[in-house]
Amino acid sequence: MLTLKQIRYCLDILEEMYPDADCELSHSNAFELLVAVILSAQATDNLVNKVTPDLFRKYKSPEDIAAVETEELEKDIKSIGLYRSKAKNLKKMATTLLERFDGEVPESKESLESLAGVGRKTANVVASVAFGEPAIAVDTHVERVSKRLGICRWKDSVLQVEKTLMKKVPKEEWSATHHRLIFFGRYHCRAKNPRCEECPLLSLCREGQKRMKQKK
Ligand code: SF4
Repeated sequence: MLTLKQIRYCLDILEEMYPDADCELSHSNAFELLVAVILSAQATDNLVNKVTPDLFRKYKSPEDIAAVETEELEKDIKSIGLYRSKAKNLKKMATTLLERFDGEVPESKESLESLAGVGRKTANVVASVAFGEPAIAVDTHVERVSKRLGICRWKDSVLQVEKTLMKKVPKEEWSATHHRLIFFGRYHCRAKNPRCEECPLLSLCREGQKRMKQKK
């Protein structure tokens, strides 16, 4: 496992590599972000970004989504995986916003998690990106990179990974670190073919060193 000093080194390198890392889902308000994050479950941000411009032109508010027939919404998001359950969740989520939150996206993670289609990760992303709450949302990239680097253990659950990162990363850096770990996992420490030979963290990454030995 990496020491706090080594983790500090990793965070500094990640900041150098991705100083402006931010949410890549296109949105212009908290409601659009919430819809986009729900759609992004097991789908790439790129794919979601192809669908949302038309979607947000057609549905501008929770009222619009709550009023539409589920079948029509399904057609609008059909190119995204799991579109049937996502359409159902979007309708339920919009109805709950109207019934319980005056049609506004709530700021607290607990309230966000009470919405259909919103789990801990989605709530963390929305709280952090839309409302500036410190949060570390653990997606597949954050989990993989944290484990490969040895910030967390391989056997850790997603929740344990989140808790470890919250303990070891200064709170004021949680949100930026979340985005930087995603960028690093998406473009550098990729699931397949991580770029270990040109990785600035290779000297302290056991997984990378193991992979380099296997290549020889
Ligand atoms: Fe990922 Fe390889 Fe870099 Fe380790 S050395 S962080 S496995 S790219």
